[in-house]
Amino acid sequence: MINYSDTQKEITLKIDSEGTLSKWRDWRWQLSHTIRDLDTFEKITGITFTNEKYEELKETLEKFPLAITPYYLSLIETEDYENDPIFMQSFPSVHELDIIEEDLADPLDEDRDSPVEGITHRYPDRVLFLVSNKCAMYCRHCTRKRKVGDVEYIPDKDQISKGIDYINNNPQVRDVLLSGGDPLLLDDSYLEWILSELTEIPHVEIVRIGSRLPVVLPYRIDSNLVEMLRQYHPIWFNTQFNHPREITSSSTEALRKLADGGIPLGNQSVLLSGVNDCPRIMKTLMHKLVMNRVRPYYMYQCDLSEGLSHFRTPVGKGIEIIESLRGHTSGFAVPTYVIDAPGGGGKIPLMPNYLISWSTNKVVLRNYEGVICTYKEPDNYEAVYCNRKCEECTLQLKLDNADESKSIGIEKLLCDYDDTIALYPENNERMERRDEK
Ligand SMILES: *Cc1c(COP(=O)(O)O)cnc(C)c1O
Repeated sequence: MINYSDTQKEITLKIDSEGTLSKWRDWRWQLSHTIRDLDTFEKITGITFTNEKYEELKETLEKFPLAITPYYLSLIETEDYENDPIFMQSFPSVHELDIIEEDLADPLDEDRDSPVEGITHRYPDRVLFLVSNKCAMYCRHCTRKRKVGDVEYIPDKDQISKGIDYINNNPQVRDVLLSGGDPLLLDDSYLEWILSELTEIPHVEIVRIGSRLPVVLPYRIDSNLVEMLRQYHPIWFNTQFNHPREITSSSTEALRKLADGGIPLGNQSVLLSGVNDCPRIMKTLMHKLVMNRVRPYYMYQCDLSEGLSHFRTPVGKGIEIIESLRGHTSGFAVPTYVIDAPGGGGKIPLMPNYLISWSTNKVVLRNYEGVICTYKEPDNYEAVYCNRKCEECTLQLKLDNADESKSIGIEKLLCDYDDTIALYPENNERMERRDEK
């Protein structure tokens, strides 16, 4: 027996003259009744804007359009809507037109690290693969805001095949991250085709799906989808809950289906001023996530994309939140706080300092309570010299095909078998891939 809220009943009546509540859970109905203009928004919510505000908002929408699913809209509490975390993530703010000097159209250089359309190859062993240009909802804090409002389309098989070919031809790629847009806006059979192509590539070990649909359109996660996905294990899944209010009975059901399908679930929150920049809100969110078998994975510092300045917090806010979590709650309820490096350097983790000082045989540490302790390092440790000849070593690593990859980055400076004493990052492999383009 499904209970619908009064708000859901009201919205259904207002947007679909033939609509019955039984359609509420039909994800295609939700998509075809997505709210895309101010008048419909006013009509449904009863919120009205002054003429001046209306004109300003209209101007904002010309640059960054509006799209809210009826489901997500039904979560807005209209009384104090201006401070409502659901409203703030889905409804435009006139501040989106404030472009400040630090703003960048493509802060993560996703386009420059793209060897073929749709693929971003930033890290040695994994790629981001954009397989959909469509979203159910336009998050106001979208890092790919530059693309929002481009023509919405699902790339055809020819285009997707070029991405698959790239992965096929690059044996170091063991992890493929499907994102978009939202990959779950592909229909099951198209998504299945992509998954079957990818899982046939011998060096692809895992496929991950990044989707916000459990949050904004949970009805998309139906049994058919999960039955299909589980044929292609190991599949991992990351979503993006940013506020405890987004965890509803509908989203809980979607998460349950995915978890029951044996799919490990992760969450990537974005730290947003006015939405969740509060240790208590974040802790509540993390607790609700783990109750739903979702492991908090990342908490992102808000990117430098254009029109997001009103959402950004100082970095100190993120550190403060991690300080309030680590030690205070279950270790697996603490996400890694990261800044996605402007210029395309990838994710850089940040956390409070726990290492207070260090001598040749002792480290001084502090815990979450402020207790300061020492850890005495061993006097009898014999360094293992590694020349990468594992067959001569007492440590047992039985590599299948001696599949050695070279060390890059700071790892290269630390290792024994390479004489490099300084790094010149302009010569790294990622930059070479850019040159090859
Ligand atoms: C975030 C990201 C990944 C995945 O990074 P993980 O730290 O492995 O989750 C891969 N490629 C790109 C371009 C990314 O932005």
